[in-house]
Amino acid sequence: MAPLKADYTPPSPASGRVYLVGAGPGDPELLTLRAVRLLEQAQVVVYDHLVSSAVLEFVSPTAQRIFAGKRRNEHTLRQEQINALLVSLARQGKLVVRLKGGDPFIFGRGGEELQALAAQGIAFEVVPGVTAASGVASYAAIPLTHRDYAQSCIFVTGHLKDGTADLDWPSLVRRHQTVVIYMGLGGLPEICRQLMAHGAAPGLPIAVVQDGSIASQKVVTGTLIDMPQRVAQAGLKSPCLTIIGDVVRLHDELAWFKPQAALKEI
Ligand code: SAH
Repeated sequence: MAPLKADYTPPSPASGRVYLVGAGPGDPELLTLRAVRLLEQAQVVVYDHLVSSAVLEFVSPTAQRIFAGKRRNEHTLRQEQINALLVSLARQGKLVVRLKGGDPFIFGRGGEELQALAAQGIAFEVVPGVTAASGVASYAAIPLTHRDYAQSCIFVTGHLKDGTADLDWPSLVRRHQTVVIYMGLGGLPEICRQLMAHGAAPGLPIAVVQDGSIASQKVVTGTLIDMPQRVAQAGLKSPCLTIIGDVVRLHDELAWFKPQAALKEI
């Protein structure tokens, strides 16, 4: 065996590790192999409300589960409390999985949590997940790019601060571009209004997808001008992903996921 280097410090048996794991959009089949293995090995799983119950079934029955919440306007644990919790669990020597919906690095505050761990010298790893833009668009049969319709795709958050979305509107009305809006349901009327005010055609296709990839998935399509009304009529509830652009036209032709059939399979 090679001799240990003089400055080598063996890892302390008491030092835990935090795995920041993406849970995907809901369908557990979209979990990575690494995510499943870690859920089976975890001693503690700290999860957000977006993580589906079907995904949680992969958590080891002996693992402690901690719900960290984070529904809009209803933060069960504040971000600083979550950060402190992760540090304290790791310091107890635990194998911790911090499980987040979709991908932890896309509108998931994963970076902030890792900064807190890094500042405290806690070891961590990141396991990417299928982000909503990709997973939800796939199950809604809306290709985000297509040679005939869109050569670029932009992801933005529609989370409103004081009733106005602070978005770079001119960058969202470019031609041949698909816009994916996370967290934009409440602000949808304002988003449609602003896009049209910045030059988007009132007839530009738009889709709002509720609960993408699981049995309760609903897809509502329309145009910028009529979408707020359609969404209100359909009674859609969070989480919803909004996709704007000509690619939405492909939904009717390509729709393959039959949520009701998925329900019967369960
Ligand atoms: N980190 C996550 C996003 C967190 S922000 C990811 O990479 O997917 C939360 C927003 O994601 C929701 O408000 C919604 O816009 C979107 N979202 C996540 N899962 C979704 C789902 N199954 N169906 C529709 N939208 C979803």
